[in-house]
Amino acid sequence: MERKDLLNKLWEFQNKYGYISKTAIKEIAQSLNVSTIEIEGVITFYHFFHTKPTGKFIIYLNNSIVSEFKGFQQIKSAFEKETGCFFNEYNQDSIFSLFETSCIGLSDQEPAALINFHPFTNLTPKKVKTIIDKIKNGRTLKSIESKFDSKIQYTPSNNKTVIFRDYKIGKSLQNLKSASKIIDLIAKSKLTGRGGAFFSTALKWKYCKDSLSTNKVIICNADEGEPGTFKDKSLLNNLPGLLLEGMIIAAHVTGAKKGFIYLRAEYKYLLEKLEDAINEFEYRGLLGNDILGIENFNFKIDIQLGAGSYVCGEEKALIESLEGKRGVPRIQKHFPTVNGFLGHSSIVNNVETFIKAARTLELGVNFISKIGTENSKGTKLVSISGDVAKPGIYEIEWGISVRELLKLSEALSPYYVQISGPSGECINHTEFDRTICDEDLICGGSIMVFNRSRSILQIQENFMNFFKMESCGVCTPCRAGNQILFEKIQKFKRGLCTQTDVEEIKQWGNIMKLTSRCGLGKTSSNSLVMAVDKFKEYFDLKISPLNENQNIEFDMEAAINDYDNFIKETQN
Ligand code: SF4
Repeated sequence: MERKDLLNKLWEFQNKYGYISKTAIKEIAQSLNVSTIEIEGVITFYHFFHTKPTGKFIIYLNNSIVSEFKGFQQIKSAFEKETGCFFNEYNQDSIFSLFETSCIGLSDQEPAALINFHPFTNLTPKKVKTIIDKIKNGRTLKSIESKFDSKIQYTPSNNKTVIFRDYKIGKSLQNLKSASKIIDLIAKSKLTGRGGAFFSTALKWKYCKDSLSTNKVIICNADEGEPGTFKDKSLLNNLPGLLLEGMIIAAHVTGAKKGFIYLRAEYKYLLEKLEDAINEFEYRGLLGNDILGIENFNFKIDIQLGAGSYVCGEEKALIESLEGKRGVPRIQKHFPTVNGFLGHSSIVNNVETFIKAARTLELGVNFISKIGTENSKGTKLVSISGDVAKPGIYEIEWGISVRELLKLSEALSPYYVQISGPSGECINHTEFDRTICDEDLICGGSIMVFNRSRSILQIQENFMNFFKMESCGVCTPCRAGNQILFEKIQKFKRGLCTQTDVEEIKQWGNIMKLTSRCGLGKTSSNSLVMAVDKFKEYFDLKISPLNENQNIEFDMEAAINDYDNFIKETQN
C-alpha cells in the first residue's frame, strides 16, 4: 500500500467494522512504515472516521443555520427519542450512533440527515419515527431514502443559458483545438474559478501547461462544503459527463495523464453515477489511451472519496488529503501548478469551473461574451436557501440584482442575506440593489436568506461555531481568533458586550485576515465584522450599558437584570 491510498484503506475498515480499531491502525502503520500516532492523526482529522465502535446505522444530522431555523432541535430530540441514543456519544450497545455534522449539501431540504450516507430530507418528528421504525423492521436504507436532488428553479432565457442546456456526450470535445488556442478561448471568456477564489482559469491552465514537471495532474474539487452550497451536487448528478469533458480538455491543454475527482463523503450517493460516467467514457474512447484517436493523448480519472472536512475544499489542503495525510493546508510557498499532488504540477478546479470550460468550447466565446457584465461573462450557478418559498438552484446571468433574485426565489420578508456562505458577505435591505458580479458582489454559490424574525446573533453563533470546529488549528490567528470571536458572541448573548468588544471583534477580524495561512482563517470573521456595522441598530441594542472603565466586581445576575431593564427602557 502507498501512502496516497491511506484514505481508501481507512474507508475499508470504517465501512466494514463501523470504526478503525487499534489493531487495524497498527497493521496500517506497519505497512506504511510510519508510527501508529501518524495514522491516528489522520483518522481523527476527518469527521467520518471513528476509533470507537459505532452502531450499524450512523446518523449524521446537519446542524447548519438553515437547519437550525427549520427545526434542528426538534429533529435531534426525535432521533434521540426513537433510537434511545444520545447525540455525539457512541452508544455502543445500540444499533444506532448519532452525530451532528456541518452542511451536507441539502440546505434546500432541511432539516436533513445522512444515515450511512443515504439522504433523508425535510424531516419532521413524525418522519423520523417512520424512518427509525422501518430501519428496525429491516427495510433497506436504499428503499426508504429521500430524493437528494435540488430543484433547478431558474435558468435565463434559452439563448442565455450556458450550463443547464441539453447535453450530448462528447460535443465539447469535438471542438478540441491546440493547447494555446484553448487557453486563449478560456481567457477571452474570462472564466475564473467558481469555487470562490475566482482565480483566472486560463492562467492556471497555462502555468500547468508551461511547467517542466514531467507528470501533471488534473484535480476536480468536488468538495463543496460552504454552508448553504449545493449547486455542484446538482451538476455532478445532472451533468457528470460534461464535468469529465472539462477535465479531459484540461488534460489535453496541459499534457496531464492522471486526473482525480475528490468527492466529498457527504455525496457518497453520487459515487456510482460518477463511476458509470467514467466507464462510459472509457468505453467510447474518451478516456484511456489515444483519446479521440489522438496518438499519446492518454488520460485516466480516479475518484477519491473525502472523509468529512470543510478545510479540504481549500486546494492545498485537498492535495494533502489526496496524498493520504491530514488535510492541513500547505504553506502558500508554491501554487499547486508548481508543487501539487506528489510534487507534480497540478490543476485544481471545482466542478462548475470544468463544466463551464467545456461549455465554452462547445458554445464558443462569442456566445458566452454576450451574457453577463464586463468582468463576469456568462452565467453563474447559485444555491438559494433559508426563508424563501422556492429554495433550489438558480442559473443566473452575472449582473442580476439581489432584489431580482429575492423576487425569483419568492423570499419571505428578507432582512439579512448571506452571500457566498458564512465566509462571504452579509448584506442588509439597503443593499438589495447590489448586483452579483465581479464588479460588485461576487458570489461563490451560496445565498442564504433570513427574515426579520431570525436572530442575527444565532446566525453568527452558528457560523463561528462552524469555523471553530473546522479550523485545522495549525496557525494561531485562526485557531485562537475563531474561539475569541465565538466568545464575543457569547458575551453579546449575555448582554455583556461593550463598545470595546465591538472594536476588538474588528481588530481580530483584521489580524485573522492578514495573518492566517489559508482562506478559512482569512474569511471566517467576515460575516460578524460586517454584521456589527451593517446591522448596527440590532447590535447597539445588545451593547451593555455598563461603564466599561469601571473596575467592578462582576455580578452576572445583576448585569443581566441591568441589561433587561435597559432594553425595556429603550423600548418604551
Ligand atoms: Fe488551518 Fe485555519 Fe490556519 Fe487555514 S487558517 S491553515 S484552517 S488554522
